[in-house]
Amino acid sequence: MDFKRIIFTAFLFVIVQFGFAQDSLKVKSELDQVWDNYDLFHEATIQNRFIKHADVVQLIQKHVNSGLFINEEIGKSVRGRSINHLSFGRGKTKVLLWSQMHGDESTATMALFDLFNFLSGNDEFDPLRRLIKNNLELHFVPMLNPDGAQEWKRRNELEIDINRDARLLVTPEGRTLMDIAKRLNPEIAFNLHDQSTLYAAGRTDKTATISFLAPAYNYPKDMNESRKRATQLILEMNDVLQSKSPGNVAKYDDAFDPRCFGDTFQAMGISTILIESGGFRADPEKQFIRKLNFYALLRALESIATNSYESQSLAKYDAIPENSRSLYDLLIRNISITKEGIAFRTNLGINLAQIKGPNFTSMTYNGRVEEIGDMELSYGHQEIEASSLNLVPGKVKFLMKAEWDSLSRDDEFELLKEGYLYVKYTDAQTPIGSVSGRILHLTNQDNSPVQTATIGHQAQFVLFSESKPRYAILKGFIIDLTKELKDLTFPE
Ligand SMILES: [Zn+2]
Repeated sequence: MDFKRIIFTAFLFVIVQFGFAQDSLKVKSELDQVWDNYDLFHEATIQNRFIKHADVVQLIQKHVNSGLFINEEIGKSVRGRSINHLSFGRGKTKVLLWSQMHGDESTATMALFDLFNFLSGNDEFDPLRRLIKNNLELHFVPMLNPDGAQEWKRRNELEIDINRDARLLVTPEGRTLMDIAKRLNPEIAFNLHDQSTLYAAGRTDKTATISFLAPAYNYPKDMNESRKRATQLILEMNDVLQSKSPGNVAKYDDAFDPRCFGDTFQAMGISTILIESGGFRADPEKQFIRKLNFYALLRALESIATNSYESQSLAKYDAIPENSRSLYDLLIRNISITKEGIAFRTNLGINLAQIKGPNFTSMTYNGRVEEIGDMELSYGHQEIEASSLNLVPGKVKFLMKAEWDSLSRDDEFELLKEGYLYVKYTDAQTPIGSVSGRILHLTNQDNSPVQTATIGHQAQFVLFSESKPRYAILKGFIIDLTKELKDLTFPE
């Protein structure tokens, strides 16, 4: 080793050491550490989004027993289910948060119970807890629409959309919310919802996983102090969400609607923030989105407690992209299709319709063709580049009923790999449709019931590479036929 190289090596060594030292100086914020330790606060009894009123009541009792929260029944739903108000903290700034005024929008309800666990904890995050407790008076109404939640539906039992009832107040749930808002007169309110999973953040392939709105309080959409504060708080939440899920934040449409509670509260001088939980790839139960909700809300509370939001410049709000309805559950690009004797290359957009399970505690899906044509600037939660593929209707296999009954899963998969999607009995009347636990569907037609891709019809066909099936599309789900059976999952 010559002298020059020794000097160079020593120089490199110093640079590297300096780099490490710099890194270790970068102390993670308390909030970052909460994110890393989210499992400590995650309410483990809530495992999916189909949370019901009975679950909420039980969990509220746990938090009342801790002595840190006060619970009060502030109203009843049409069906007589309690609407509960939990309060926490003894600070001077009142904040009201309510969730699930639409019964099938539960992401924030899940996140609120994670937040309650955080607030009632006792660990190295006590300084943040104390900050919130000493500066804020928090008021929560989790699950404002328990009847809707019971049947996993948007509206209440009178079939009224509670978030269009802020003026007429026909619904007991809407009246309850208005009463508590008037009684408390909070400085700040959070209106917590879910939106379509098919919104993108602007014209990008990124999902609008969290969309914000500082609702307008009049038709010209003017800015006032109340709306300004809501906007600044959104910017605070946006900053931290971008670090955890870059590009997945958008803005909700800000057209004024006096029937909505957010717009009405904003007009009453309550700084109101709408948070809409959208979709995220491979998170149908919205558990990652729940974590983002928890994190954004905690950041907002921290910011309100310290007034740090006041330094946010409103101009930054313009940079948040708008919600764009440009996503599909599955997008098949450049596929060759033959229709009416004409072969053409096009794109297919497929969306999964949700089918509620028994007791409204689960969901199955059925994919339908929503779009055929030029789909520039549309994206899929999943995509197939099909430039070398042809769409072919699934074949029908004729079997005796006893043969079908004794067909093994391996046999079914072999038939699928030959391009069969359906079975018809040769010796009995055949029921129609999918069969629980089976791969192939039943049909009573001699030809494929789905001839080719048709708008509004089930997305069920085979994609051939030259003369060989490459993918099967079953109920809108991709089955990669080059994989082993054990590595595949099939739609129920
Ligand atoms: Zn909603």
